[in-house]
Amino acid sequence: MSLNRLNKLRRSLAFRLTLWYAVIFSVSSFLAFFFFYSLMIDALRSQVDEDLNRQLRAFSDIMQVDGLEGVRRVALQETRAGGESARLIRLLSRFGTEFSVSDRAYWRDIGVDSEAIRRLLVDGRPVFETIGVPDGGDSLRIIYGTIGPGIILQLGQSLTLQTRLVGAFQRLFGITMAVVIGLAAAIGWFLARRALSGVGGIAHTARRITRGDLAVRAPVSRRGDEIDQLAGNINHMLDRILDLITGIREMSDNIAHDLKSPITRIRGLAEVTLTTAEQRADYETMAASTIEECDRLLDMINTTLVISRTEAGVQALQWQRIDIAGLVQDAGRLFETSARDKDLHLSVTAGDPCCVINGDARMLQRMVANLLDNAIRYTPQGGQIDITVQPTPGGDVAVIFQDTGIGIRAADLPRIFERFFRCDPSRSASGTGLGLSLAQAVAMAHGGEITVQSEPGQGSTFQVLLPRNGDKIHNP
Ligand code: ADP
Repeated sequence: MSLNRLNKLRRSLAFRLTLWYAVIFSVSSFLAFFFFYSLMIDALRSQVDEDLNRQLRAFSDIMQVDGLEGVRRVALQETRAGGESARLIRLLSRFGTEFSVSDRAYWRDIGVDSEAIRRLLVDGRPVFETIGVPDGGDSLRIIYGTIGPGIILQLGQSLTLQTRLVGAFQRLFGITMAVVIGLAAAIGWFLARRALSGVGGIAHTARRITRGDLAVRAPVSRRGDEIDQLAGNINHMLDRILDLITGIREMSDNIAHDLKSPITRIRGLAEVTLTTAEQRADYETMAASTIEECDRLLDMINTTLVISRTEAGVQALQWQRIDIAGLVQDAGRLFETSARDKDLHLSVTAGDPCCVINGDARMLQRMVANLLDNAIRYTPQGGQIDITVQPTPGGDVAVIFQDTGIGIRAADLPRIFERFFRCDPSRSASGTGLGLSLAQAVAMAHGGEITVQSEPGQGSTFQVLLPRNGDKIHNP
């Protein structure tokens, strides 16, 4: 494996998780083993000590019955029976002077511990000690105890069996730990890879998106775990981003289109005037048309700015008490002529002061004017437009614009409030595609909303809901 790949592996989350898993697993196993090891050592030692204590009591009994000679005789028999190296039996005076020993050959280097004898004489209780046998022999557990007046017995027992047991346990411990560490690393690696497999898929998706493939999505398995939830959320987010990008693209296309038409018209008129104009009046006509087109463009740009500022909440609103019924009636009167020109029947039904709200009069006028203007423009000759202002059961005010116009296709309904969006049948008619966006921004700035119901060929109903205390909602 190259150094680069090794470094990459070392930095990977799967590697670090594996390492942690292996370390935690191994330390836990080590602690468990160590606990059993300590228990075993303790149990073995207690057993030996108990054995030595029992022998000491036996020699003490022999001493009482048969005296020192009896003790010597039994000691000799015991040593022969157990083997020379298995047991040490030594009789000492209270000053530690040896006056009889089972067998000197094997135990000659094992001395008498004067400190142990001093402790025995002070305490009166048997004293234990463990000592190593020189030349690599097994350790020896020794007990010092009094078996008669002024007579101390030093009993030693070889720990060969115990040492072998401990050795076997240690070997087993070593092998087991090696297997445990290997197993822990393998299981840890497998689990980490499995858990993080989805992350790799997400990273791969992100790389492809960075390269420009916006349609690709993160793989979602059927496990339904956190990684799947993350992948699902990311996919959802990508869908939203794609929608937004598509919307922005369409909007910029629409802007380009809407700007292009008046500029082309201005340019065409200027060209024609330059090449064909003979009198001053021709130039005056061109100037008037240019001003008109520029006004339209400026109006469009200004409206876009007002929508953005209103949506962002930075458009300063002049809050005041407004009789919304009166405001709608005024608008109705203003548009009466346009309606009559198209042979439309326009009716306004507005109640009493029930419909007084807090709001910005100019903005609300623009909202009502846009909705009413749409109703007139999109209703063919001889149609009917009804505007109703009424309080709602929830205490708000509803302004309803109902027309018998061309209606809106269900597919277009979710998009009509987008900036510059115009339904296909309306593209040829005059308009900027900003009227509904502004109306909705105004309604929302007042804490309200606009809903629409429409049937192509039958007509549309736009309902504006306005709370009475819109200023409180936005300036608590
Ligand atoms: P426009 O300047 O095109 O009228 P709007 O934002 O006011 O822009 O409206 C967006 C689109 O919604 C319009 O182009 C039109 O297709 C559709 N629309 C709005 N009001 C009505 C209505 N009352 N009847 C039918 N279609 C409507």
